[in-house]
Amino acid sequence: MERLKQILSKINGKGYKAYKELQGKSFKFPDFELWFYHVQGDPFAAPSQLAVRVPQQWAGFPLESYQPKIRKITLADYLTRSFYSQVGKLPRQKQGSGKSGDFQIDRPGQEVLERTSVMLNEHWVELRFFAGMPAAGRRILGHEAEKMLFDELPKLVLNSLFYANLNSGDLFTHLKVVEDQEVLRRQLSENGLVAFVADGSILPRKSGVDQRPLAPEKAIAFEAPSDLALELKCPHGGNIRGMGIPEGVTLIVGGGYHGKSTLLRSLELSIYNHIPGDGRERVVANPNAFKIRAEDGRRVEKVKISPFISNLPLKKDTQKFSSDDASGSTSQAANIIEALETGSQVLLIDEDTSATNFMIRDARMQMLVAKEQEPITPFIDKVQQLYRDQDVSTVLVIGGAGDYFDLADTVLMMGKYRPRLVTEEARDIACQHPNYRKQEAGTNFGGLQERVPQPESINPYRKNNVQVKAQGVEGLQLGYENIDLHYLEQIMDPSQARAIGEMICYALRKKIIDGQQNLKEIIEQLEQVIDKNGLEAVSPNPQQPRGDFARPRPMEVAAAINRLRTLIVRVKT
Ligand code: ADP
Ligand code: MG
Repeated sequence: MERLKQILSKINGKGYKAYKELQGKSFKFPDFELWFYHVQGDPFAAPSQLAVRVPQQWAGFPLESYQPKIRKITLADYLTRSFYSQVGKLPRQKQGSGKSGDFQIDRPGQEVLERTSVMLNEHWVELRFFAGMPAAGRRILGHEAEKMLFDELPKLVLNSLFYANLNSGDLFTHLKVVEDQEVLRRQLSENGLVAFVADGSILPRKSGVDQRPLAPEKAIAFEAPSDLALELKCPHGGNIRGMGIPEGVTLIVGGGYHGKSTLLRSLELSIYNHIPGDGRERVVANPNAFKIRAEDGRRVEKVKISPFISNLPLKKDTQKFSSDDASGSTSQAANIIEALETGSQVLLIDEDTSATNFMIRDARMQMLVAKEQEPITPFIDKVQQLYRDQDVSTVLVIGGAGDYFDLADTVLMMGKYRPRLVTEEARDIACQHPNYRKQEAGTNFGGLQERVPQPESINPYRKNNVQVKAQGVEGLQLGYENIDLHYLEQIMDPSQARAIGEMICYALRKKIIDGQQNLKEIIEQLEQVIDKNGLEAVSPNPQQPRGDFARPRPMEVAAAINRLRTLIVRVKT
């Protein structure tokens, strides 16, 4: 501590670069050790990456709060939130320029994700945060830095990283609620389900830009229809009644504004665990469920979209379909094939964000436009094949196309936000009012192709440096390229986007992307590395640990690679 004080008073008033003297150093405080992993070069640049490490014997977290692994992830999430909220309580009389005096840490949303912001084990708890080292203009404000590190920081640490100072009831609720979700999710496949929505769940959100739950007085709590209800068992919550969505083809029908999309959206995000009070903490979906939508304008590289699209004008290849500007239907077809390629077992589709001509071609249109003149085999003619041949289930929101009744295994109707099972009614209607459209699909779905990314087509360098930058959850800058993540609606945290970028770089460095392995093998190998060595393993520089990664699903990593505009793949034959 004294040494740090000396350095700060020595560099006081000097140019900002003098802070660099701290980089790589650590200092002992009474309650913790402070590390300067990376020091910013400019008060206006990204703040410095610091960390505090508290010996576990002082931090005092009981073993059951961080074992098994799911609890470790959840405790780390809890501590990140706790530090974040403590920072919010600091008085904000900011002194100095740029980010001077700021403390920052990852801000978790409604999901509990594996993160690098807090690392812990039986020896210590380490919390990584960003600090804007104070300056006036570009002159170091040593005294301000002293105030920050010697007054504010120890209080933050004491209030957020010491078990004795936390609300242990609240913490254990956090741990139990997440653990229950894991257990619920694990029971899905043995019960033949793709998803489960517990009674009492609150699915709607506060607003389009606020992921917190809609206020209880405005929201209608979910209630399972008796004919789809079942009970699942949780270690902490006991028996939980709710609606099981079976494998196969499920339609969610109902009038406009009756809650169809809201239900689907909650399934999309229930691949993740939610925090207590979210309203979806007892909603779980198959962890491989993937949202499919139209995404016109996207890049597509040699994807076999031929199950859906063939005979394009000018004899364009649909066995190895490439486009720099895919249409609504071709992009949606590519999104499905790529999801299958990376192992998705459940497709989630909303009519609101689908290409109509991809979803349906009705009898009258079939009469006017002959099959020979229509490249698209609509999804309606493939959805059952997908289940039969590929074991891939679909949950589909559809309010407009009753032709789907013929193919549905389950039909769920939302009426005033309440679900009802109407499979029989829909079947009766389908019998009494046969539709005259012709089945257009061939006899089977056909196999998938292996696509092998070529390493030389992925360049993370900008001039001489690797550059990875997340633009919120909307985009990822990789070298000179921008990968559009906007339509990957299951990426929820900018730190996931950042981690995706670093995982791609890691895969290049370690020759996991080697021009031989296919995309599935690449993401599986990355998973193994992270399972074994933690998310940290993909850090660009082990000397400078990072606190701003959150774990993405492997499918989103593949999806990001697939959207890289320079990507070239070789198709294995
Ligand atoms: P649909 O897709 O059937 O047209 P949405 O799911 O978009 O309808 O929902 C329409 C509106 O109703 C949204 O503003 C949504 O937040 C709200 N909403 C959805 N579910 C509920 C619910 N259970 N209770 C109250 N409001 C809800
Ligand atoms: Mg809708």
